[in-house]
Amino acid sequence: MGILEVKDVGKRFGGLQALSDVNLSVRENTCHAIIGPNGAGKSTLLNCLVGKLIPDTGSVMFDGQSVLGRSPHEINQMGISRVFQTPEIFGDLSVMENILISLFAKRDGAFRMHAFESVADERGLQEEAERMLDEVNMLDKRQMHAASLSRGDKRRLEMAMCLVQKPKLLLLDEPTAGMARADTNNTIELLKEIKEKRNITIAIIEHDMHVVFSLADRITVLAQGTPLVEDVPQKIKGHPKVKEAYLGE
Ligand code: ADP
Ligand code: MG
Repeated sequence: MGILEVKDVGKRFGGLQALSDVNLSVRENTCHAIIGPNGAGKSTLLNCLVGKLIPDTGSVMFDGQSVLGRSPHEINQMGISRVFQTPEIFGDLSVMENILISLFAKRDGAFRMHAFESVADERGLQEEAERMLDEVNMLDKRQMHAASLSRGDKRRLEMAMCLVQKPKLLLLDEPTAGMARADTNNTIELLKEIKEKRNITIAIIEHDMHVVFSLADRITVLAQGTPLVEDVPQKIKGHPKVKEAYLGE
């Protein structure tokens, strides 16, 4: 049994069958990559896992409980955090405030600022936020406006916003899209560290094969809304079905 079990999931948008018969099992403390051509249904699948979309058919179990019918916040509280394709940070706020907002969101289910319930609560959360920033080497940037960070640091901040919620499963949708090589390599190192030191399971959608092969323990190839192959990276490389799926990209 994986920590995440997707069974026979289907999702239709009007006349388009975006997902059909999707089965996926993500094992605890592994990095599972989902790859596939544009329009294969990768983001749709991720949205079904975090409560942004409700599948028409099938089941999604996380840590032994169904996520279906739960709100994104409830799913977040179950232990799933998500990193979006473009960093979702609050540009007008400081780096520190962004981390605090993430802590409040996990606790209260709402993105709001100045939500300390008591002085002790304030001190505790401030310290937790500072520890997190220290761990991702951003403590010196805590007063900076998030909007003025480099692309790589924005991603690092977003990652820290997820990690401070102490998730069991981290979902990432093309986290290195549009990044320069140096920032991509930093992201790879950060994700490796997350997997190894924090015992967080990672499911990642990624286009960049360098990232996929640097991180993944298993890979599922999605094509036209359905899994084509699932295997270890060595077996996916050069797999004829995989080459075929990418032809015409
Ligand atoms: P990927 O992330 O693999 O590139 P998506 O999951 O974004 O693919 O999209 C899969 C298919 O579903 C595409 O054909 C896309 O146009 C379509 N699609 C995605 N979201 C919606 C939506 N909200 N309404 C209608 N069609 C959608
Ligand atoms: Mg996508």
